[in-house]
Amino acid sequence: MLTHCLGYPRLGPNREYKRTVEGYWQGDLTLEALDTARLDLIRQRIDAQVAAGLDLVTVGDFSWYDPLADWGLSLGYVPARHHDNSLNRDDQLFFMARGVRWDGAAAPALRLRKWFDTNYHYLVPELERGPVRPLDISPLLAELAEARASGRTVKVVIPGPLTFLWLSDAGAGAEPLDHLPVLIERYRQALAELAEAGADWIQLDEPAFALDLPVTWISQAEAVYHGLQRHDVKLMLAVSYGAPTLPLSTLAALPVAALHVDGLADPAAAEVLAERLPPHRALSIGLISGRAVWRGDLNTLTARYATLARRLGDRLLIGTTTSLQHVPWDLASEQALAADVCAKLAFARQKLDELVTLRALLRDAPEGLAAPAGGQTVSPPAETELTRAESRESRIVRQRQALGLPLLPTTTIGSFPQTAELRRARAQWRKGELDEAGYQQVIDRYLQECIRIQEEAGVDVLVHGEPERTDMVEFFAEFIDGMVTTTYGWVQSYGSRCVKPPIIVGDLSRRQPMTVAIFRRAQALTSRPVKGMLTGPVTLLNWSFVRQDIPREAVAYQLARCVREEVADLEAAGARIIQVDEPALREGLPLRQSQHADYLRWATRAFRLATAVAGPDTQIHTHMCYATFGDILDAIVALDADVITLETSRAQGELVRHLARHPYPADIGPGVWDVHSPAVPDTDQLVAFIERLLTVIPAERLWINPDCGLKTRNWEEVVPSLHHMVEAARRVREARSAKAARKADEAVH
Ligand code: GLN
Ligand code: ZN
Repeated sequence: MLTHCLGYPRLGPNREYKRTVEGYWQGDLTLEALDTARLDLIRQRIDAQVAAGLDLVTVGDFSWYDPLADWGLSLGYVPARHHDNSLNRDDQLFFMARGVRWDGAAAPALRLRKWFDTNYHYLVPELERGPVRPLDISPLLAELAEARASGRTVKVVIPGPLTFLWLSDAGAGAEPLDHLPVLIERYRQALAELAEAGADWIQLDEPAFALDLPVTWISQAEAVYHGLQRHDVKLMLAVSYGAPTLPLSTLAALPVAALHVDGLADPAAAEVLAERLPPHRALSIGLISGRAVWRGDLNTLTARYATLARRLGDRLLIGTTTSLQHVPWDLASEQALAADVCAKLAFARQKLDELVTLRALLRDAPEGLAAPAGGQTVSPPAETELTRAESRESRIVRQRQALGLPLLPTTTIGSFPQTAELRRARAQWRKGELDEAGYQQVIDRYLQECIRIQEEAGVDVLVHGEPERTDMVEFFAEFIDGMVTTTYGWVQSYGSRCVKPPIIVGDLSRRQPMTVAIFRRAQALTSRPVKGMLTGPVTLLNWSFVRQDIPREAVAYQLARCVREEVADLEAAGARIIQVDEPALREGLPLRQSQHADYLRWATRAFRLATAVAGPDTQIHTHMCYATFGDILDAIVALDADVITLETSRAQGELVRHLARHPYPADIGPGVWDVHSPAVPDTDQLVAFIERLLTVIPAERLWINPDCGLKTRNWEEVVPSLHHMVEAARRVREARSAKAARKADEAVH
């Protein structure tokens, strides 16, 4: 029985990856220094696998930005706008990934897209022109050479051809599968070079085989893998991120040395494949999660798989379910975590040890071990807790009266620029160099400034600016029992961007009010309404590592109760508007269509549980960072919020068309200004967009706001932008009342 992982984190123990690559981009590091750092990280990744005692050492998944885009470049695919043969390979990749070249030249970057149902984002390769550079797998060969020096059996991992094609952009109007013949030819060359260079195994990742693939694609699998067959290297086809959707008989018949499936997502598939695989093929089962931070339940796994292990003998491999890139590097770095919490956790390094332990347990397992039965039920919240006291129609009337806002009210999404003073003060406060009172003074100065700027600009509904938060999830996690934050628990989000998700380790409860004091301080500075500002339960869930011993739905309700208590306290403290952000609602959608309805059912319930406690006069806002919400519109309506603000600026036309067909039944604020761009929006353009929105949204329902929080902008951009936004709303309002007056006038005469 052999042990292996599907891939390893790239960041290094202390985000050395980020520091290095950003240093190179800023011109502080030379290309040589970049190469040295690459080699160092690659060696650390190999050493970890060797030290743990894995049978196969896996390499090939390092990249200074994204392995999929890097692989596209290896194959020779480069869009015309980035193509420059005078660039070295790293600079060519960075130009494609970042849209800027070392000399400052710019061209739109490859698009980023979510990697399956994870919080990692990959760059979408563009295949339109076909390969334009010769095959160049030199980075892979360098990794291979390092791994071979360890003396272990070496496995090189690359994206499988069908998944690569599925995730890429084939070009406008092109039929993706038309790229297949050329692509396969490149793959054959690449496999030959890897075999020649001494790879023992090549792992072809085909996570697309866990998606709802069209039959036209499925029917290609056999021909593709026949075309790649080789005798000088073993191919492992790995299906990850869920149970295979490809018929198991098709999978079992593919001519590869080993098939890998996720034994946690679908134990039954592993059983069936063990039966069906021809005798000379091996089965690899993912038994240690590449995505969860929990220790595996090795005893249960042993009980479940002992018989199968005996049956397959040396035809069995055990591995991780996915690459370990989704979990932090090493739990040993976490000095501040409680011992009982640590005892539940395993990060990448620990997971390698678990594989080796599991191998021993499975080898020595006595016959006739019975697997325990699982299954947990959720007790859903009562309908009364989920329902606001009055209907949306009557609430909106009350709220309009209570708030006395003008037509087309203006507001912002929550955060304002984090100033250097604020960052400095926070760092000093964390280190104990600044006491609590001193830190709060800095925050108070910020609140005064932030409120003054909004009042001067004439914004109608104000925010406090979120100076006390660095992150919209971690901030709340620090107030919730059962949720812990780590010191070094970073995982890659995209490129050099990393996130440090909190960990939900037990039952959740709010320790104390989280935002009430800062709300009070901000509201005391102005007579205009200040919004209470919270992160919603679904986003708290989707951006954390979640315990797996109870259903996700149950955890969502526990988080919802924490937020609910905060909503009630904010209301009691005088908040007339409370915004509950759910930017991660949509990204939590399961990969398989068949599971969408169930997710949306409990996700909307969680939001309602969090917010329905508000009285009818209190206005509940929510915010989402996407405009393409057509596919989940019913769920968004079911949230029963009074006002929704959306990101739109990159898909204005699409949203307008959508709203024309499907009117939203409450107030709505499609973002009129793109906060992702440093440009200050032009008042005339804002007016034009607002007029356009008014063709599909009744004026009484339309809010005017930017499309997301402003924390990544600076004040020099934000202040004039606010003035332009308020001015645009005023002009549209005046034009409308002038028009109404003219009409009334005409009617009289
Ligand atoms: N209130 C948050 C902010 O303005 C919302 C962030 C988000 O949508 N991701 O920063
Ligand atoms: Zn947003």
